Amino acid sequence: MTTSIYALTSHDWAQTFNQRGFALSTLPYWLDGIYKDPSLFNRHIAPQMLDELKNEYRFDLPEICLTQESDDGTIKFKMRFKDSLEVETVLIPFHKRYTVCLSTQVGCAMNCSFCYTGTQGLKRHLLADEIVGQYVRAYQWLLKKKPSSIKPSLVFMGQGEPLHNVAEVKKAVEVLIDEKCLGVGPRQMTLSTVGYLPAIQELKTFPKINFALSLHSPFNEERNILIPINQKYPLSEVLSELDQLALLKKQFITFEYLMIQDFNMSDKHVEELAKLLSHRKALINLIAFNPFPGSEWKRPAVDEIENFKQKLVKKKLRVMVRNTKGDDILAACGQLKIKTMARNYGH
Ligand code: SF4
Repeated sequence: MTTSIYALTSHDWAQTFNQRGFALSTLPYWLDGIYKDPSLFNRHIAPQMLDELKNEYRFDLPEICLTQESDDGTIKFKMRFKDSLEVETVLIPFHKRYTVCLSTQVGCAMNCSFCYTGTQGLKRHLLADEIVGQYVRAYQWLLKKKPSSIKPSLVFMGQGEPLHNVAEVKKAVEVLIDEKCLGVGPRQMTLSTVGYLPAIQELKTFPKINFALSLHSPFNEERNILIPINQKYPLSEVLSELDQLALLKKQFITFEYLMIQDFNMSDKHVEELAKLLSHRKALINLIAFNPFPGSEWKRPAVDEIENFKQKLVKKKLRVMVRNTKGDDILAACGQLKIKTMARNYGH
């Protein structure tokens, strides 16, 4: 398939320009034309060169086919690719900045029991340019609505397990981070995995972005229920592999912990979490479960959340509670799924 212009870093472009005998002095205009202002192509790139590049590369971005805005300011986009498959991308307001939650696969193979996306199975992996394209589209939309918006942060927490599609996700990270392309700061970027062990090693070769593990229980028997691949890749092995990652001085691994009423919030969970995490550079991110149609789990009450948090704090663990956003439009974690998928694609 033809390569997309959104799948190449400035380094890749420099090599291409060299191979084709194009003047490197035009490269900044070319890259700014892609990411900032397409009118730069016609003003600064010779017509013959432009024709050659237009013939060789794909320029398309995913199409935003539906936009839903939540009462709390969260915006959910349905993005459609060339083959008509769709994913959801979410813009989440956080303090003075937005965060884009990117999908990495159409559907997901991991089948986590708390996740609405997991119920649809994996349709296909996304290509690097389809991942970058979601960010570009969401940022363009934001700039139109609020022209003074600063560049959004991003998290790989949408549909899909990023490490199940690690090569394309890594390429997307390299393009997103490239200061001559999109220039998202590495510390503004978080990749979250449920513990797909075969690819954790690969994270060592990634730029220094943030990593998160969906933990949800310190006990294998409970994790097996929540995250079925835990049966194949148990928590102890995942943690040992994560321990091999070299972190920056002030960098932590975030452990996402979905609080489910009457399931994973007891004193024995607190004790075991302390055993597992107190000697690690860990930040526990507590998230109240978001119920979705047909889910068997329940959301805890506000005082249960506070009690659980305080018990963890007493154990000297670093803890924060993440407020869920976008519940009213099914945009919160684990709730992403194209509702019309069954009708459109026969599943
Ligand atoms: S939680 Fe993530 S990994 Fe699990 S099924 Fe949902 S999208 Fe896939």
